[in-house]
Amino acid sequence: MYPWLASTFTQLSARLAATKLHHAMLIQGPSGLGKTYFTQQLAQLLLCAKRQHGTACGACQACMLYQSGTHPDLHLVESEKQIGVDQIRDAIKKLTGSAQMSGAKVLIIQQADSMTESSANALLKTLEEPTAHTYLLLTTDKTERILPTIKSRCEKLVLPLPDLDMCINWVATQFNGEIDRNFAKLFSSRPLALLAELEQEQGFTFHDFTKGLTALSSGHITAVALAASWQEHIEKVLKWLQFWIREQFEEVKADQVILFRLNEQAIKTSGILQNPGVNKLLLITELLTQVSKINIR
Ligand SMILES: [Zn+2]
Repeated sequence: MYPWLASTFTQLSARLAATKLHHAMLIQGPSGLGKTYFTQQLAQLLLCAKRQHGTACGACQACMLYQSGTHPDLHLVESEKQIGVDQIRDAIKKLTGSAQMSGAKVLIIQQADSMTESSANALLKTLEEPTAHTYLLLTTDKTERILPTIKSRCEKLVLPLPDLDMCINWVATQFNGEIDRNFAKLFSSRPLALLAELEQEQGFTFHDFTKGLTALSSGHITAVALAASWQEHIEKVLKWLQFWIREQFEEVKADQVILFRLNEQAIKTSGILQNPGVNKLLLITELLTQVSKINIR
């Protein structure tokens, strides 16, 4: 288990052993925190026939089936867009009757906030009166979008966020390369997101980005020249620029009006970029010209 989620997992495991685990959990946390893995591990724990010291044994038939992705009493509902009512009805149907493996039945609903209103309504009765030995694990990073009727029937589990050191230390065990502390700050509570971003850097790093901004601010390079060398990385530049602006807002008291306008311009530019055939060089030059007006410390 991820170190920042380990104690929460242990607590749940102890409650399960004491048969005090709620049958419906709403697992909350930002994306990139490890919710999916946490929920999967919890599902395996629920299904395992020979739990040992608060963890799944990894060797019983239930664990074997879980690991091969074919456990007949584990059901998953997810969707890239919306979770439709038919998906929920199908899942509920699978939960009726007794478990095929004589253990628990588990339904995971990923990104439960993407359920339509009718999907959510279809789930209410099951949340209220589940079939025996049934656990419903709902996950979300947008709790505000979950209907109150769903929320009130679930136990809310807000996963803890790691501090910056824990985040960096963990990423360092997974990533073979330098981790810029300031860059990591942008993802402080989301280690998996930081790792994914670092793995994607390839050729143009956050360090190159901040070095370029400093050179621009101090007049060592012009906006036009910097834009020319960065135009191939415009998506990354835009994303990082928005992170960077947020950080400057917190650290620098001056230039807030410029920062505010710059942020708006960066968001607008991201939108324009979606159109085919846009002049990337022009867009990025305009942005960097604004950046050059900021006094970076
Ligand atoms: Zn097992």
